[in-house]
Amino acid sequence: MKAIVFEEHGDVGKLQYKDVPEPKIGPNEALIKIKAAGCNYNDIWARKGLPGMEIIMPHVSGSDAAGEVVEVGSEVKSVKVGDEVMVHPGISCRTCEACTSGQEFFCRQYRIWGFQTGPLDGADAEYGRLPEVNLIPKPSQISFEEAATLPLTLMTVWRMLVTRARIQAGDYVLIWGGAGGLGSMAIQVCNLFGARGIAVVGSDKKAKYAKDLGAFEAINRNSQSVRDEVKRITNRAGADIVFEHTGEATWKDSIAALKRGGTLVTCGATSGFIGQTDIRFLWNKQMNFYGSHMGSKGELLQAMKFVHSGQIKPLMSEAFALKDASKAQKVMEDGEVMGKLALVPDHA
Ligand SMILES: [Zn+2]
Repeated sequence: MKAIVFEEHGDVGKLQYKDVPEPKIGPNEALIKIKAAGCNYNDIWARKGLPGMEIIMPHVSGSDAAGEVVEVGSEVKSVKVGDEVMVHPGISCRTCEACTSGQEFFCRQYRIWGFQTGPLDGADAEYGRLPEVNLIPKPSQISFEEAATLPLTLMTVWRMLVTRARIQAGDYVLIWGGAGGLGSMAIQVCNLFGARGIAVVGSDKKAKYAKDLGAFEAINRNSQSVRDEVKRITNRAGADIVFEHTGEATWKDSIAALKRGGTLVTCGATSGFIGQTDIRFLWNKQMNFYGSHMGSKGELLQAMKFVHSGQIKPLMSEAFALKDASKAQKVMEDGEVMGKLALVPDHA
C-alpha cells in the first residue's frame, strides 16, 4: 500500500510517498481502508522530533482517520466488514485501573496512534490497523474527509473545556488560535454551552472566520492589545477561562487576561515550553491552572453526540491528496490554516 513515511527527523522534505507492507491484524483488531486522514500538529512534532520522546522509525504519522472496515480479527464483535468508522486515537491496555476509570491517558501503555505507535502505524496510509475498541461509528451525514478531521481535536477540546474547566453559560472564554483546528472547535463548544468565546487570531480574515463561527468577539493580536481588549469585553473582570495551547509566546498574556478565581487550561505549547508565571497572581487572584491531554473514549463519544445532532460541525477547510502531505504540513507550519486539513488516499 502507499503511505507517507519518514525515516529520520527534519523538514517536510523528509516525507516520502512510497509503498510499504499492508498492516497485519491481530485477533482483537480490525483493518480499515482509510478514506481520509486528518492533519494535526502531532504530525509536525513527530517529523521534527521532540526532546525526550522516541518516535519509532520508519514512521507513518496521522492520528485521525475515517474509513471502512475491510477485515476483522477472530475475536472482534463490535464492528463488521463494511462498517463506516472513525478512529479514537488513544491506544491503551483497557484493563488497568486508569483505563477502567475512564482515564486511559494515564495508562502505562498509553500511546497516541500515529504519533507514538510504529513502525509504520498511522493514518497517513491506504490502510490502518486498530483495536476494535478504538473504532467508533461515523455519522452518515458527514463525509469521510470531515469525519477524519474530528476525533483528536474534538476530544481534546471537550476534555479541556467541559471536563477540566467546567465551562458554564455566560463564561468568557479566551481562545488562542481562534481560527485554527483547536480554536474553531473551542468556539463551537462555547456556543453549545452558552458561553462567550473570545477568539484571538492573527488576521482580519481569521477574525471574520471566528465571528462567522459564532465567536462572541474576535481580537486581532497583530493590531490590537489582547489584554486591553479582554478588559474592555469583560468590563474589566477578565476571562473566566483561558484556552491555552500556544505556551511561551502567550503565557504571560493568558495569566494577565484571567479573572480572579479564573481557570487556565492548556493542552500544548506550540511556541515554546517555558512560560513565565508571576506566582503572586496565582495566589492573590486564586487562579486554577489545569493541564489536559487528549481525552477518554467516553469523552469523545459524549462530544460526538453533538456531531450526530448537527450542533458541532466538522470544520474542514481543504482536502489534499495523500501524496501531497508535505504541502498540507507546510500550510500548517506557516499558520495559514483555518479549521482543519484532511489527506485523501488515491483509492478513496
Ligand atoms: Zn491501561
